[in-house]
Amino acid sequence: MIDRFNIAADILNLDESIRQRLQKPEKQIVVNFTITLDNGKIQNFEGYRVIHNTALGPSKGGIRYDTAVNLDEVKALAAWMTWKSAVTGIPFGGAKGGIICDPREHSKTELEKITRAYTKSLSDIFGPEKDVPAPDMGTGPDEMGWLMDEFSLVHGKTIHAVVTGKHLHSGGSLGRVEATGRGVSIITLLALQKLKLRPVKTTVAIQGFGNVGLHSALFLYEKGLKIVAISDVSEAFYNPEGLNIPELILYYNLNNKSIKGYPNSLAIKHEELLLLEVDVLIPAAKEDVITQKNAGAIKAKIIIEGANGPVSSDADKILHENNVLVVPDILANAGGVTVSYFEWLQNSLLESWRIHQINKRLEDILEKGFETVFRVAEKHNVTPRIAAYVIALQKVADTQAIKEVAL
Ligand code: GLU
Repeated sequence: MIDRFNIAADILNLDESIRQRLQKPEKQIVVNFTITLDNGKIQNFEGYRVIHNTALGPSKGGIRYDTAVNLDEVKALAAWMTWKSAVTGIPFGGAKGGIICDPREHSKTELEKITRAYTKSLSDIFGPEKDVPAPDMGTGPDEMGWLMDEFSLVHGKTIHAVVTGKHLHSGGSLGRVEATGRGVSIITLLALQKLKLRPVKTTVAIQGFGNVGLHSALFLYEKGLKIVAISDVSEAFYNPEGLNIPELILYYNLNNKSIKGYPNSLAIKHEELLLLEVDVLIPAAKEDVITQKNAGAIKAKIIIEGANGPVSSDADKILHENNVLVVPDILANAGGVTVSYFEWLQNSLLESWRIHQINKRLEDILEKGFETVFRVAEKHNVTPRIAAYVIALQKVADTQAIKEVAL
């Protein structure tokens, strides 16, 4: 990430002092807490919250539950949130949180206790005008509801706007669950237009069938694209005729949220999915899955980064040389934080918006973001990724400098 940051910072001629400021988080907090498990045993957990930058507004970003969570990863993810909000023009800064745990190994009761204990430790950090969490890998509306409730208990009043991605009955927004996938599909269609490819003639492979992968697959299927390969942690499979996504989602829901054993397709190796001969590849699982090791073997014409950081910096160079269009994460998956912003606004204004209003505004924001990124890319003759960083860095650096001068 430092590479991309520095290339953009060089284009902008940014001062060394501001570069250093923007490369480091404003605040990083490590918390340790204990809960009693269902079997009566006591277990300790470590959690993190990193506030990267608040120049543009309250810091915003998800909370991840995963065994691989660590402070460095959370720091990188927090910085991405700053750039993501900046590039789409959302008035938020960037943050991220995480707890080292395997959510699949805990009961609902245990997950509730973990979430409440984490929230309590961070109750002076979170706040609607300070730092606003959201879901990420391994968390969803349940966790966000518990977080809001615990935060409200600590502060003695109901405070909906402290967190986004809640259930509707806890003050959530229509369209938030599917927002990231909807955004990915909007951006994919714009990228196809750019390359003059027709949606109905387009084949797609999607890595990951969590919230992002599943909804991206569904919306693209509805637009007539042929989704020929899908994977989740358990399995990867391929069907050159195109998968029936609504049927696959039904199977997944009835099969304990797993695609394992889905018929009508050919099992392939996980790493093969990335190298298939398709028009569009959507890595929607985790970081660093396309690196210098496999980038040269990618055959897709377009990569849409559904996950945060799936393509490494060295892979960027190879893909660019091979003429693969990469639409960067900070634009491609910004649909989630955009509808989070709508949720936060609705909570703050005591309003509830209709779904078509939400989807229309989401589309407008992403379209504008896409056009700006491609315009700046042309102007500076750089990749869309570097262009996105140029736009984001300029916005944050300008605001940061004004704030610093004011001090
Ligand atoms: N975790 C999501 C992301 O990485 C959403 C963040 C949010 O809604 O604040 O963009």
